[in-house]
Amino acid sequence: MAKYERVIVVGGGVGGMTVALALHRAGIPVEVHERHDSFQHHATGFTIWSHAVASLLKLGVSLGSAGQPIEQTEIRNQAGELICQMPVGKISRSLGADSYEMQRDAMLKAIAAELPDGTLHWDSECVGIEEVSGQACVRMADGSQHQADLVIGADGIHSVTRETVAGKVALRPSGYCGAAAVIQFSHPDCPPHTHIDVWGHGGKAGIADIGQGQLRWYTTWKVPRKQHGPEAGRRSKAELLAHLENWYGPIGDIVRATPESQIRQNIPSDIPPITRWFRGRVVLLGDAAHATTPFAAMGANMAIEDAGELADLIVGCDHVEQALEQFQSLRKKRTEGIVKHGRFMARMTQLHSPLAAWLRDQAFLHMPAEEIDKVTKEMASGS
Ligand SMILES: Cc1cc2nc3c(=O)[nH]c(=O)nc-3n(C[C@H](O)[C@H](O)[C@H](O)COP(=O)(O)OP(=O)(O)OC[C@H]3O[C@@H](n4cnc5c(N)ncnc54)[C@H](O)[C@@H]3O)c2cc1C
Repeated sequence: MAKYERVIVVGGGVGGMTVALALHRAGIPVEVHERHDSFQHHATGFTIWSHAVASLLKLGVSLGSAGQPIEQTEIRNQAGELICQMPVGKISRSLGADSYEMQRDAMLKAIAAELPDGTLHWDSECVGIEEVSGQACVRMADGSQHQADLVIGADGIHSVTRETVAGKVALRPSGYCGAAAVIQFSHPDCPPHTHIDVWGHGGKAGIADIGQGQLRWYTTWKVPRKQHGPEAGRRSKAELLAHLENWYGPIGDIVRATPESQIRQNIPSDIPPITRWFRGRVVLLGDAAHATTPFAAMGANMAIEDAGELADLIVGCDHVEQALEQFQSLRKKRTEGIVKHGRFMARMTQLHSPLAAWLRDQAFLHMPAEEIDKVTKEMASGS
């Protein structure tokens, strides 16, 4: 292993916290710089599949109260009819670990609990990185500078570190606006340990049990691609409810119960493939390297996969450059495939024509059980 006296991770999100813990477990001195002052800058959740859960458990993370194991994912059409049921619990257990609906902040706190005090630097925003005498020098918004043997850019979709490595990269808006929230709520049609994904025409929606009496929900609608500022496509709560009037009932019910101030809206975007993931002593991972839209439910999973692979290579390679090169060649093809799949899922789950949506629903309704098991296994195992 090359000598590492100081590794800096920019971004205390999913990939950044996971890679920091993996490096710490390997005895490498690491610190994380996060621009916010806590993990709770917005309440949200996501699906973390069995293989990524297994990686976190292997690192000693205690996930007990961070989320809820998923037993099944129900896919329903806009009217609420069940068109497919994925046996996520059964398949995940056969792979050795449950898949989870995870609360983002609780999962990050569980990882942070395994790191020594002083690893995490809050309110610490990176504004640029320079190469200085064979090391990377991170410039912070407060004017301080920090030199390190390696800087890991894990600063998400709006990455600043990406610019150092790959220049300016424009986001590709998906053409949909999304609204989401997490609330304390129960509903007779939202059973525990269940994720309900509703595929409509011109949009989608969903509700998932994320544990501790909380459900997360999301819904999307079409916006012209040229609209992509922070206000583009936004809807008031009343407009959301009007949009959901003819949708599966629990969706409207949960939106109605959500205080408007807690509804978060944005335009999901991804980035085109970038040719380089590293330059000098700076390497990217997670959304900084390969941001994807949430439609394939894989972005956080890929960030966890990246973190494990990068840490293993850092430990296993004699030279930093060798580790970074192998990391890029190992991860690029899979992650680019998932970004493409995310774009496909965006189209397929939100087909505009009611006839096309009906044909899609029929195809899923008649899908053989073995095929459903196969797709579920691919997602849960990350293969
Ligand atoms: C609505 C929605 C639903 C989703 N559902 C799923 C799902 O079901 N399954 C799934 O796998 N993925 C899902 N995703 C995607 C997933 O959230 C991301 O892909 C994942 O969080 C990426 O991890 P990351 O570590 O690369 O970035 P993030 O988790 O976004 O973390 C980046 C961190 O860097 C910090 N940061 C940014 N800039 C700086 C800076 N200059 N200096 C210091 N810190 C900085 C940020 O504050 C943040 O904490 C979803 C995303 C959305 C929006």
